[in-house]
Formats: sequence, C-alpha cells, structure tokens
Amino acid sequence: MNKIAVGLGTRQHALQQLANEQFDLLVIGGGITGVGIAQDAAARGLKTALVEQRDFAIGTSSRSSKLIHGGLRYLAQGDFRVTYESCAERALLQELAPHLVKPTSFLIPVYRWGYHLQLAIGLWLYDVVSRLKNSVPHQRLDIATAASYAPGLQTAGLHCGYLYHDCQTSDARLVLEVAKSAVAQGAVVANYLEVVNLLHQQAPNNSPVCGALVRDFHSQAEFAIQAKVVVNATGVWLDKVRQFDEPQTAAKVRPAKGVHIVIAADRIPTKCALLFESSANDHRSVFFIPWYEGIVIGTTDTEYQGDLANPQAEDHDIAYILHAVNQVFPQAQLTPQDVKSSYAGLRPLINEGNKSTKDISREHKIFISPHGLVSIAGGKLTTYRRMAQNLLDEITPLLRQKGINPGASRTDQLYLSGFSTELALTTLENSVLTQAKELNLPAPIAQHLVADYGTQAVAILELIRQNPRLATPLVSDLPFIQAEVVYSAMVEQATTIDDIVSRRTRINFFDPVGGEKAAAVIKALLE
Ligand SMILES: Cc1cc2nc3c(=O)[nH]c(=O)nc-3n(C[C@H](O)[C@H](O)[C@H](O)COP(=O)(O)OP(=O)(O)OC[C@H]3O[C@@H](n4cnc5c(N)ncnc54)[C@H](O)[C@@H]3O)c2cc1C
Repeated sequence: MNKIAVGLGTRQHALQQLANEQFDLLVIGGGITGVGIAQDAAARGLKTALVEQRDFAIGTSSRSSKLIHGGLRYLAQGDFRVTYESCAERALLQELAPHLVKPTSFLIPVYRWGYHLQLAIGLWLYDVVSRLKNSVPHQRLDIATAASYAPGLQTAGLHCGYLYHDCQTSDARLVLEVAKSAVAQGAVVANYLEVVNLLHQQAPNNSPVCGALVRDFHSQAEFAIQAKVVVNATGVWLDKVRQFDEPQTAAKVRPAKGVHIVIAADRIPTKCALLFESSANDHRSVFFIPWYEGIVIGTTDTEYQGDLANPQAEDHDIAYILHAVNQVFPQAQLTPQDVKSSYAGLRPLINEGNKSTKDISREHKIFISPHGLVSIAGGKLTTYRRMAQNLLDEITPLLRQKGINPGASRTDQLYLSGFSTELALTTLENSVLTQAKELNLPAPIAQHLVADYGTQAVAILELIRQNPRLATPLVSDLPFIQAEVVYSAMVEQATTIDDIVSRRTRINFFDPVGGEKAAAVIKALLE
C-alpha cells in the first residue's frame, strides 16, 4: 500500500491530535472556503486544524454549477474586480490541478437584440480581462455554425451564436484535494465534528475566543480544541457560529437557493456546453453543462429561509429549468421524467439590505468580532485560494498579537494533491491507461480515475492489482468502481454510504436508484 499517499490521514488519529494539542488556527467548516484557508495557513507555517460538522463539501461546495469561471455575468453588474480575480484564479488552477480543472467551451445562442449588444461588449471585455491570463478569445458564429455545435438548437429567431471558454471541475473532489493539500502541509483535519460552542479565555463570553467545543457525530462524545485564533468558514451557517460568540449579533449572510437538474447525456447531445437566457421575464442565465455521463442544467436564484442542511429542488424550480431548455431545444420536449436527479445549493451571500439576491456582489467579506472570532462569507468556488490568502493577510496583526509570525502565502506555487510537475498530465494519462489495460480495466474508467484522482489513480490501480474484484463498477453504465470506496475509506475519511455516492464518487447525480442498490456493497467495503 506504499503507493497510497497520506491523504487526509485517519480520522481516529486526527481526533486524538485535535483533543490533545494546541493549535495556532482552528478553521470551522470543511467546504471550499475552509479547506482553502487551512491549506494557506498550514503552508505559511501555522499549526492548523479544521473541523467539519458532517462530511467535507456536504454544504454548498458539492452543489454548485461546477465551473471555475471568470463570471461573465458579473461584468454586466460592473463587478470588474471579481471577474479579473476569477480569471486569474482560473488560469492558476489550470496549472496547479490540470487533471481536475478542465477547459470547456460554451456556446451562447442569441435570440434577443438587447442580449446581443450586451454580449458583444461583455465578451470583448471578458477577453480583455482574461487575455492577460492565456485564455482563448471568443468567436462570433453564424446560425449554421452555431447549430452544428448543438444539433436540435432552436434556429427560428436565432440571430447568431458566440463561443467562449471557461473551465469546469468536480466541486466536491476539488474540496477533497485542497483538504489533502492542507494535510500535506501539516494541517490536521476531521469530518463529522460539529462545533457546538466556542471557548473564551474567561467566562462569561466577553473575553478572547481560544478554541471550540466539538461534538463527534458518530459517538456523540464532546471535547475541546484549543486554538489561538478561530476562523468561522461555515457558509450559510456563518451567523449561527457567530452567535456562539455574540448572541445578539445581526445576520451577515443571506442565503439564496440555486437549483440544478441532471439529465442523461444522450437526451440532448451537443459538442460543447451552453449558456442561454431563460425565456422567463427574468432573462436569467442558464448553464447547460455536459458532466461525466449526464448534463447538469441550472440554475435558479431565490431567497431562502428554510432548513440550511436540506434545501430542496421544488417542482416549480424544476419546471422553470425544463421550460428554459425546451425553448432552446424544442424537439427534446423534456419532461420531469427525464430528470435523473436534481439538487439545490445555498449561496452564502453577504446581507446587503434590500438588494435582490441576483444583484448582490459575489465578493467575499471578512468580519473580526471584538473577541477575535474571524468570519468569512461570500465568494465563489473559483476564488477560494485568493479568499484564503486575503484572510490570512488580513488577520496577520491578530496572529502577531498572539505571538505567531505567519510567512507569506505560498499556495500560488503549490500543486494540488493529485498533480506534480514531475509528470505531465498526458504522460500520467498514458501511464494509467497502459496499466489499466494490463488489469483489463476499460479505458473510460481509467480516464475517469485520472480526471478525479490525478496521480492517485495509480494507488487505486494498485488496490485492483491486489484484489481484482475491486475493478467492478458500483453501478452499471457509470465509471465509478469498488476500489474507489476502499481508497476513500483509507485516504479520504469516508465513513458513510452518502459520503461515497454523493461526494467521493458522484453516482447520486446520475443514478440515485443505482446508488441505493449499491448501498450494501458500499457498506461492506467501508467496513
Ligand atoms: C447553485 C449554486 C451554483 C454555484 N456555482 C458556482 C460555480 O459554478 N462556480 C463558482 O465558482 N462558484 C459557484 N457557486 C458558489 C460556490 O459554490 C460557493 O461560494 C462555495 O461553495 C461556498 O463554500 P463555503 O465553504 O463558503 O460554504 P459550504 O460549502 O457550505 O461550507 C461550509 C461548511 O461548514 C460546515 N459547518 C457549518 N456549521 C458548522 C459547525 N458548527 N461545525 C463544523 N462545521 C460546520 C458545513 O457543514 C459546510 O460543509 C455556486 C453556488 C450555488 C448555490
């Protein structure tokens, strides 16, 4: 098993360290924001811990549109800084994790003159902003060429098309790889540990925060983690954790729900992803993104006041998306029966008073309480690294007050777990394909292993070499195999069936019924 790297470390060992050691920094929240901060802090030399109440990425960070993008839409809102920073991060992440952050072309069909004008200016600006970052410029397409990218596209009323370029990823897998990168820099991380209170140096709570009380979801045992500084990166749960420190504090976060549906790839085959305007009066942008064996389509943007842990895609959300697709692909006549799965995520937007959620800036904000609790909200999957860097820079005076001297941020030079310069991506792909052939593993499975695990694909092949039965797919027609369950349990702190079907593999997005049928096999492999 020596080909398996340390990964996240075992949960049991992490629990012992968390209970017995003193940390410089404790990060609460194992979404992309939290793991990014843990990586940046550990790489600056801070003794860093991170706890996640359920599984890594279980919140918004596994329910996104899965794009690493400049954010064309933010230009229309005049948010040049967000777009510039996002384009810069997009370029950097393609270098640091090329297996996981893949260039993707988007066709935009244009049916409205107002939209045409807006796009012509927006895409030009998008190129100007991202050209500095090695991106491919957009193209204007005539009707026939646009339709050749997306057979079945509504051509009646079509003015033209535009082709532009962004990147896509597998969001939860990105979170896991950043978390592993944090551990590689010395961080201690554990999932299924909920912060149920904060520790203050003196009771009552009017003195500096010095750690947190956590509850183990599996055993229900509680213990304290001592840390000189605590960072609250809990997304839409931000205010709940802030209230452990300041019970009367006003809400900083305003959750906005976004729904996606997933359909089978063969329902609407296209040569690229699409971005189109919804035909509803809101002219909302709808992404249509081929992903693994399906197409992810969304999203909506509505106020949300319900259960933060279980936002649901309602029938009317799904109907909105189906209607938008059927306007652009009229022959498809999609119905709710075509929906393989749907999911809802909550944007942790900054509370900006009366603004509509779609008009709120996607910039992040950092708040430091009088007792030194550091909270961060807003931002995007794409900009996680820069958010982390900003946060650590901003709290450097606070850290110095506590006798900690952080170094400069290094995350722009650190390859993410699963990639290294020693091996070009194509060399890795060829090597994994050759080894997979020797093990009679079909090429699409080998390609999936490289895309999701990078260099760690070799470790998964090693498991199969030791036990060939592990090459068996968990669900027919999907590339996810039994060896991934064993790997996830050993290296990625996976303990439940949902950890496997929703976030280590993405089975639940394409075949939730198949995922249920595979539950017994997964359970046995986890034990
Ligand atoms: C529909 C939708 C589509 C999006 N698409 C994109 C996109 O394509 N590209 C992009 O760049 N961005 C996108 N975003 C934005 C992006 O997904 C979010 O900004 C990002 O995932 C937020 O990450 P986070 O870590 O702040 O929050 P979360 O991922 O929600 O993480 C917070 C974590 O804190 C944990 N937690 C909460 N309370 C506690 C506690 N007491 N103790 C321990 N842990 C706790 C939670 O369980 C959770 O895992 C999208 C957002 C939505 C909603």
